[in-house]
Amino acid sequence: MSTDQIVIAGGGHAAAALCVGLAEAGQGGRVHLVSAENELPYQRPPLSKSFLKNADETVAPHKAAAWYAEQGIQVHLSDPVDSIDRKVGQVLLRSGTVLAYQHLVLATGTRARTLDALPPGLSNVHVLRDAEHARSLRTRLGETVAAGRRFTVLGGGFIGLELAASARQLGLEVTVLEVTPRLLGRSVSASLSEHVLAHHRSMGTEVQIGVRIEGFELQEDRLLSMQVNGNRVAVDELLLGIGAVPETRLAADCGLAVDNGIVVDACMRTSDPAVLAIGDCAAFPTTGGARIRLESVQNANDQARTAAATLLGRDEPYRSLPWFWSEQGPMRLQMAGLLPTSQETIRRAGASASSFTLFHLHEGRLLCAESVNAPLDHMMSRKLIEAGGLVNAASLADPSVPLKSMLA
Ligand SMILES: Cc1cc2nc3c(=O)[nH]c(=O)nc-3n(C[C@H](O)[C@H](O)[C@H](O)COP(=O)(O)OP(=O)(O)OC[C@H]3O[C@@H](n4cnc5c(N)ncnc54)[C@H](O)[C@@H]3O)c2cc1C
Repeated sequence: MSTDQIVIAGGGHAAAALCVGLAEAGQGGRVHLVSAENELPYQRPPLSKSFLKNADETVAPHKAAAWYAEQGIQVHLSDPVDSIDRKVGQVLLRSGTVLAYQHLVLATGTRARTLDALPPGLSNVHVLRDAEHARSLRTRLGETVAAGRRFTVLGGGFIGLELAASARQLGLEVTVLEVTPRLLGRSVSASLSEHVLAHHRSMGTEVQIGVRIEGFELQEDRLLSMQVNGNRVAVDELLLGIGAVPETRLAADCGLAVDNGIVVDACMRTSDPAVLAIGDCAAFPTTGGARIRLESVQNANDQARTAAATLLGRDEPYRSLPWFWSEQGPMRLQMAGLLPTSQETIRRAGASASSFTLFHLHEGRLLCAESVNAPLDHMMSRKLIEAGGLVNAASLADPSVPLKSMLA
């Protein structure tokens, strides 16, 4: 067995971006990409958006099989890493294959959160994390609209709301049930939550917030109804959109530090310097000293770049500005930066009635911007925050003052 191998456990955005980084440095021949899924790494964001709405849309791989072969990257599909032996530097795949590593990178992402009260395998209860889920949901959405049945989404987070909007655009009756007092409560400001609520209601979705879910009625392999605020609510189809949990089992089993994610330093090294972790599964230190985990394409791509540098012997600590987007029907949300706990908020009107940006400042400094249908303001906000965020509040509020002029 070769002694300088890099094994990547995971076949998502972070793994794909790391393959690109290593291949660009001429190191593809050292790499084994090991994925639990049966397809090459692909773009996940369309799965809750265009893919659900277009029967002939196919899953979009980051790179074709020929590219991996040309780079000398060995790909193992449908063959997850089952265990790690850090003492000898080996991983064991489900098939029994043993791979030695000089460096191991954990890019295992997250899995959908589920509820103990709902046993796995219920035929009308769904989650959405991967291409297989999306294919089966697309079929089910088609059948549901044809039968005039209702789709219920439990959880008003990004994936639930994107699916709700896609389902409405397909003509389904949709209900969203959220137990907290607002939609996207963990991710966006209260003002934006209000706008999102109004948007979904205007699309014809029934949205209930602050609900109490008191029980579930099952019959054989189906969920028949839920008890909501003391009432029995019949369920045709249900999406569980209640968040995701980081895939940390492998790391925990081999004794790596885990704390709401696999603990890494700013160069993506875990508590064992031969093992790195990147993407949704990694809990990393921010410049402010807090440890966080982000679930976004930007974070997966940029952490992969940092990890590639670390593996190539250059320490380039991860300092990227977080940014994120979400499409919910005709509404495109874009966020730059992290929402401060206390903030002054300034609203800037956009080019149309349905577009605006909310700028969030802390002690006079711009730290976060939330844009709705305002992609140019989003791009400029990223530049302003990266430049230190020192801005004139009155100019921010005035759409006649170009954001670009504040960069000087
Ligand atoms: C439906 C959907 C829509 C999204 N939309 C957006 C969006 O609009 N904007 C945005 O910024 N982000 C979006 N995201 C989030 C974004 O896709 C993730 O943040 C990103 O995919 C994270 O990349 P990752 O490589 O860390 O994890 P993933 O892409 O989840 O990949 C993890 C991979 O590891 C594999 N794996 C797990 N365990 C093992 C093991 N033991 N051995 C081998 N392989 C293993 C998994 O099967 C999976 O293939 C969306 C996510 C979903 C599910």
